Amino acid sequence: MSAYSDLMGYERDTQALSQISVRLGWDQETVMPRGAAPQRAEEMAALEGVLHARRTDPRVGDWLATIEENMLDTVGQAQIRHIRQGYERATKIPAKLATEMVKLHSMAQGVWAEARGTEDFDAFAPTLKEVLNLKRQEAAALADGGDPYDALLNDYESNAKASELEAMFNALRPRLVALREKVLEADKQPMPLDHAFASEAQMRLTNKLASTFGYDFNHGRVDKAVHPFSSGSGQDVRITTRTSPRDPFNCFYSTIHEVGHGCYELNIDDSYLLTPLGRGVSMGVHESQSRIYENQIGRGQAFTQHLFGVMKDEFGDFGVKDANAFYATVNRVNSGYIRTEADEIHYNLHVLLRFDLERAMIAGDLAVDDLPEAWNTRFKADFGVAVDKPSNGCLQDVHWSVGLFGYFPTYTLGNVYAGCLNKAMRAAVPDLDGALAKGDTSGATNWLRDNVQTHGGLYEPKEVIERACGFAPSEAPLLEYLEEKFSAIYNV
Ligand code: ZN
Repeated sequence: MSAYSDLMGYERDTQALSQISVRLGWDQETVMPRGAAPQRAEEMAALEGVLHARRTDPRVGDWLATIEENMLDTVGQAQIRHIRQGYERATKIPAKLATEMVKLHSMAQGVWAEARGTEDFDAFAPTLKEVLNLKRQEAAALADGGDPYDALLNDYESNAKASELEAMFNALRPRLVALREKVLEADKQPMPLDHAFASEAQMRLTNKLASTFGYDFNHGRVDKAVHPFSSGSGQDVRITTRTSPRDPFNCFYSTIHEVGHGCYELNIDDSYLLTPLGRGVSMGVHESQSRIYENQIGRGQAFTQHLFGVMKDEFGDFGVKDANAFYATVNRVNSGYIRTEADEIHYNLHVLLRFDLERAMIAGDLAVDDLPEAWNTRFKADFGVAVDKPSNGCLQDVHWSVGLFGYFPTYTLGNVYAGCLNKAMRAAVPDLDGALAKGDTSGATNWLRDNVQTHGGLYEPKEVIERACGFAPSEAPLLEYLEEKFSAIYNV
């Protein structure tokens, strides 16, 4: 099988180059001098050109045509599946369209940021129309007569179908709205934190928390950035977080979330290093890891007991009387406008809204000019409040400006998967809460490592979840978890 080894050798260099590009991106968001931005843009564009040429190199097509897949083992077949998907995708998009999109997206992000700053949707609308126009062309090129939205979705979640997600989301929505209403009408509402927390102390504790969740500082580091993210695969996976003096939970839970993403990448089987299997398999499965670390484990009653203790050690008395009050404060529900600040109940309602609107835009059923009204009407229905300004409404997320259509639903799919994994993990790991209350997450994180993370890209996204859980994924475990948790906290 010399074609297979030639292809894998070629692929290894492509993967290495793409990790360099990722690390340049990390550098840009953390330590790069500001004045270096124009040169960095050129460096990254040059590298992107090299990567694009490698991904569409006709030799890849020749190797793929020569290799007899049925002669390969399961791992080899999975490698070829990923390479074939990538090659077909890259060669279906006309080069002119690809270049136009790259240029437009970097310009559009600036227009969006400006329009959001001045609360002026009309200033963004013409640019969004252009982005949407190119995106619909891309979707049509990728879809081959199939559903255009599915073609975009499959960039982030292979084999997912919008019609299946729609059924799942339609089952979530009414029960989340009902739970939201019940909880917000409860007589006793948890108190928010009211104290100042020094930034250096937050960073000290956030590093401890990263270790507590199994993040390996020999292969990673935690830095500050405007937006928390995780970056890289294999032996070098870095995360970022941020601090805000009045809101240390933002720092701690952003860190735990990114540690979930980071540990997924770090815990993939070593033999997949710098191959297509050596990365998280999809955005949905990735988000399932970050969300289960953050919410089902990190915001659970057992772990918050531990966190309450370490916060008292670090900050002294910060105005919360005991571990029970602290648990309620950590999980306080309120109907804010902003997705990234939303609690566990509202978060998915944010995502469902965006999924329905972007599908309608790609289908040509919703015009850009009608977007603000459609957004605001839906927001009022699901959140019970009227949007007061565009930056709190349809101008809040960067995604659409940079052409990320089909990405939003993977957030909720990740939560659905996290709900399933939590159910299976709790059945499999004895005395999980006893250990979590002492700050020992190893039972949970080892189970996730062995049942999900180690496989990297070996299985299709849905398959890896089903294999880990022993049942087909559905929204039911997430709903049961949310209803039980918040009914207990709010006594409703
Ligand atoms: Zn995430």
